[in-house]
Order: sequence, then structure tokens, then C-alpha cells
Amino acid sequence: MSVTQSKPEAMFINGEWTEGSSSNRIPVCDPSSEEVIAEIPDASVADVDAAVAAARHAFDQGGWPQTTAQERGRILFRIAEKIRAEAPQLAELESRNTGKPIVEAEFDIADAATCFEYYGGLATKVSGLVNPVPDNALSLSLKEPVGVAGQIIPWNYPLLMAAWKLAPALAAGCACVLKPAEQTPLTALKLAGWLGECGVPPGVINIVTGLGETAGARIVEHPHVDKIAFTGSAAVGKLIMKSAADTLKRVTLELGGKSPNIFFADADFEAAIDGALFGVFINQGEVCSAGSRVLVERSIYPKFVEAMTEKARSIKLGPPLDRDTKMGPLVSREQYDRVCKYQEIGKSEAKVAIGGGQPASFGRGYYVEPTIFYDVDNSARIAREEIFGPVAAVIPFDDEADALKIANDTPFGLAAAVWSRDIYRALRMVKAIRAGIVWVNHMQPTYVEAPWGGYKQSGFGRELGVHGIDEYLETKQVHINLNEQPIGWY
Ligand code: ADP
Ligand code: MG
Repeated sequence: MSVTQSKPEAMFINGEWTEGSSSNRIPVCDPSSEEVIAEIPDASVADVDAAVAAARHAFDQGGWPQTTAQERGRILFRIAEKIRAEAPQLAELESRNTGKPIVEAEFDIADAATCFEYYGGLATKVSGLVNPVPDNALSLSLKEPVGVAGQIIPWNYPLLMAAWKLAPALAAGCACVLKPAEQTPLTALKLAGWLGECGVPPGVINIVTGLGETAGARIVEHPHVDKIAFTGSAAVGKLIMKSAADTLKRVTLELGGKSPNIFFADADFEAAIDGALFGVFINQGEVCSAGSRVLVERSIYPKFVEAMTEKARSIKLGPPLDRDTKMGPLVSREQYDRVCKYQEIGKSEAKVAIGGGQPASFGRGYYVEPTIFYDVDNSARIAREEIFGPVAAVIPFDDEADALKIANDTPFGLAAAVWSRDIYRALRMVKAIRAGIVWVNHMQPTYVEAPWGGYKQSGFGRELGVHGIDEYLETKQVHINLNEQPIGWY
């Protein structure tokens, strides 16, 4: 398949393709060749306004919120079915555009379909309450869609993040304006081309391509957008929260992390080494929940660092489309520069076990070496700042209390993992760690059925599971008086 032949180089607004009102185009790259593989419109304020108007119309006059939950559920099932049918081309496009290994892209595409299936099923399970008010009355809590949702997503899991945003919103009866990351818009645009045949009415899903500072910022400030769902950096999350305050929008933020992956001496050693590597090197480390702080009990620390380093040598860097590639290039020149900068910072703060540079063998592409720093102090920048690349900071700890102190000594709180065979200790840690997701004897498994989101500066609101749809629903209290007499107050 040729990416260039299949590219929709336009935006999807009100059920139609449009070039937008600006003549500016944004180049989209293949990070393994650094070649431009598509060009997309650079959405202007007027383009965003058109998308919001289309969503508003679909919501206010188009009858979308009045469709039955069954109808919306069936539409979501059709989207899932289409994604599964087109999975090979979607995975290839995703792999080319992000640099992620094709095998990982295949999992992402399947997960995206699963997400539409889950919320297709959940659409018919949303129900309100009957409230036991002390009167001759019927008191109800109704669940209603929040309205027009502005959804801004990152470049690390492009179609999957689109699914996490669109599926619960549609199930709830919202209309959406989705902005993919400017680096990786191609799979979301592919999906847009199939929405009509899946039964999504015009205006219910609009996809604007554009830059964060212009198109993204306009979505956030727009007075006719009711809610913002954002996944991305903490820095942009703060801007969004400030801007959304002017119109008091509902906001959910899924931001970065510096998640601890904690290994006690009694953990299964082989599984632990695998888990430490998988936790931080999957998807080139471009994962918000990456286990980028590897905390290791001092009694196994030297052996652990050695085994982790030895196994990291076998991680195969290579072209994203090779089936045996375990790590591809980073997504962009900007991200490559950022990770290289942290590799240098790390060398001045800690010891290098492996990596710390760029592989010589490729000649082009944004490849960096899987990098492990050890003897890292938790106050080091590489232990405090999100790098969003394949860089691990290994930190020794003395005992359970020390592990907990280090684990929680971070402004972030997205995820954590604890490895131990001692169930008492593991569960004490689970309860004491301040993070939205805690894994025991595993790191990274993510299921559409289970909630996802952060504590502290990793954001707020929950996606996925039954929790995810709540963020797209309002609660309306209805009081029905059953007394036929006047209240008799006067
Ligand atoms: P990164 O810097 O790694 O690209 P960002 O948080 O900047 O991560 O990007 C995540 C998403 O947020 C992208 O879709 C991007 O276009 C968007 N974005 C960036 N800046 C803003 C902004 N000021 N307002 C709204 N969206 C933004
Ligand atoms: Mg940015």
C-alpha cells in the first residue's frame, strides 16, 4: 500500500472533506526516512469555528442526542467492524507515521476497535436513578450528553487515542470536534472517510487538522464547546485549564508521568527484568505511563542493573515495518532533540549502563539508543522530568518505607507498578502509592474495561471503563410532584 495514494489531505467537517480556508499546509513525516508522506491543512480559527458550528448543529438541531442508545451503539459496532476489516492498512499507516513497530501498531488498531465495541455495548447501559426524596413525589436523576466535546490528542497512539475520545462521547450522545496531533493525523483521517458508511450523521464527528497553538487553542476557547478532553503534556494541560476557565468548560486532562516501577528483592527475577524493560521501552518509551523510574531494592540492585543492561542489548532497533523490530525511531525531530538532550543531562547526573546516544547504523531517521542510567538520585532531572523516550532512571532503595517515599516524591501520579511475592507488602504499597493506576507484578497492561487517569499533576478525570462515559454526561435532577393540592403556604 502506498501511503501517498491513500492520504486524505483534507479535514473532515460536517461530513465533508475540506481544504480549509488557509493556504498553509503542515508536512507529515515518516520518522524512519524523515521524508514527507503527506501534507495536511493548517486549520485556521475560521476552520475550527466551522467544525464547532457543525457539531453544534448536529447536537442542537440534527437530532443526534435524540437517537436511541441502541442506534448509537450499533453505529459504534459498525465503526469497530470497519476498523477490524481495515486493520492491516491502518496498522501500516500508523507504523509509518509514528515510527512504532508494526507489531505494536497492530495491537493498537485492535484495541481501538475494542474500544468502539465496549462503548457500543455501554451505550444501552447508561441509566439514571430514582431518588428517595421525603415527599409525595417522584425524583429522578437523568443522564444527558454534555454537548459538544472538543478533543485534543497526542501523537504516541494516534488512532487509539482518537477511539478513547470518540467512542464514549458518541455513546453518550455528544458531538465531537477532534484534533489529532499535527505529527500524526493520518489514521484518524482514514477513519473519518468511513464514518458516513458506518452511519455517523454529518457534523457528529468533525476532525480538524492543525497546530496546537492555533487550532487546538481555538477549540479550547470556543464559547460553543461544552467540554474539553485532552491527552498530552502537562505544560499544555495547564494552558488548557487556564483558557477553559473563561467559558467554564468541563475539562478532563490526561497528562504526563514519571511513573515508578518498583522491584522488591523477593520478586520473580526474570519476570522483573522483563517488566522493567517493557515498562520503559515499549513504544520507544513514548508512553505517558512509562515506568521511567526503576526503583530496585538494594540487596538485588547490582545484579538487577547488570541483568537489565544485558537484556536491553537484545532490543532490536530497526525499521518500523520489520516484523522483528522491537524499537523504531522517535516520532519527530523535535522529540529526538528532546530525548538526546536528556541523554546528555543524564550523563552529568548519573552513570550510564547502556545507550546514551544515537545508533550509527541507520544514517537517517530519528533513532535513539535504549538508554539506562543507574545510581540516579530521585532529585535528578532525569528522575523528575518526563522525557517521553526510551530512557530509564534506575534508583536503589533500602526498604519498603524508602521505596514508598521515593515513589511518591514526584509531582506526577499517573501510574506505578510493584513487584513482590509478598502480598501484604504489595497491597500496602498499592494503597499508599498516590497514582491513578497501580499494577502488581506487571507494568503497562491497559484495558478498555478499566479506568485510566492520573492523580496530582498527571491530570484528572477518568477515561475507559464505565467511568469514561460519565465524563461526557451531565446529571439532570427532575422532581415530579404527585400531590394534587396547592402547597398551602400562603
Ligand atoms: P508534545 O509537545 O509532545 O507534542 P503536546 O502536549 O504539545 O505534546 O501536544 C499534544 C496535543 O496538544 C497535540 O494535538 C497538540 O497539537 C496540542 N496542543 C499543543 N499546544 C496546544 C495549545 N496551546 N492548546 C491546545 N492544544 C495544544
Ligand atoms: Mg508541544
